[in-house]
Amino acid sequence: MLAWVQPGRRHAVAALALLALALLAVAAVMLRGAEVAASDAAALRGRRIAIDPGHGGPDAGASGFGVRESDVVLAVALRLRDLLGAAGAQVFLARTPETDFSEYRNKNGGPGNYRLNVRMDAIKAWAPDVLVNVHANSFRQGPSEHGAQVFYSPVGGPASLRLAAITQAELAAWTGETKRKPNTTLIHYMLEESPVPAVTVEVGFLSNRREAGLLASPAYQDKLARAMYTALARWFEEGGPALNGNPPPEGARGRPRASQVTGYRG
Ligand SMILES: [Zn+2]
Repeated sequence: MLAWVQPGRRHAVAALALLALALLAVAAVMLRGAEVAASDAAALRGRRIAIDPGHGGPDAGASGFGVRESDVVLAVALRLRDLLGAAGAQVFLARTPETDFSEYRNKNGGPGNYRLNVRMDAIKAWAPDVLVNVHANSFRQGPSEHGAQVFYSPVGGPASLRLAAITQAELAAWTGETKRKPNTTLIHYMLEESPVPAVTVEVGFLSNRREAGLLASPAYQDKLARAMYTALARWFEEGGPALNGNPPPEGARGRPRASQVTGYRG
């Protein structure tokens, strides 16, 4: 206790000191936020970014503990769209709550499975600089498996590899929930057929009870979106699509395409 403080006023002084500390903390966060936003806006302004929230319509994708992949990835994608839009980027969402470019009817007129080629055609027509696919994982044989992981295809060149590495690092930093490394083993139509650098972000495992809970929470969805947003800003700052140099000549891509793999579901 300080000598000049009347015993009865101790609590008031302590409360004022706490309030001052809280205000300083808020100011520090706001300053940092403004600083980050300015550099992000410089890197992202005018960039054309396509986001594909996987699945949708009659296809919920993976699910676990009452959480559906199609819902989680749409929520993350909408948040990412808002962040990018605020930084001045142009965003194309391949699926929104109102629109699904891949929606089609089966031969009986009912809702059919979505067709990735229709979605890819819409993305190609919009001519983005980069494509980010958002999915969630499930591995029932290993319920302890967890953590976000980024996939890319070698056909996307060094620009895709670099975006995958940056995104993986940002996911680790923002969520504190993953030690995974970027990977090429996922054969994904939306990576193989993308005309521009592309990554697929598996945001976590719905087969893991704890992570399914995280993925359903708006606070965690926000962290995931901020990780992807920050990664895109860093990537464009480094050169973005230009990291690929000259594109390979047509027909130089040797790897089998996902469209040739039978039974594949995104
Ligand atoms: Zn999926």
